[in-house]
Amino acid sequence: MADFFQTRMGQKFYEADVPRIAKALERIADALEAQNRSAPSVCPHCKEQPATHKLDPFSGQAVCEPCHKALREEWDSRRPR
Ligand SMILES: [Zn+2]
Repeated sequence: MADFFQTRMGQKFYEADVPRIAKALERIADALEAQNRSAPSVCPHCKEQPATHKLDPFSGQAVCEPCHKALREEWDSRRPR
């Protein structure tokens, strides 16, 4: 019995499908990189301070240090104890 790569289906898979998938992945990666480059560098919460790697627990957006602290406290206060 022929191995998969020797079949007509296998040939199409390796010669057409795999390159198409690889190309699609590259396009996704390029799009994600472009999106990250255009991400706002200013905190979306106060629109004043530069955003840091700290995330707003409500929206998941990168916010500045003071906003993060305030949002964090609000988040904690809303949690049931
Ligand atoms: Zn802020």
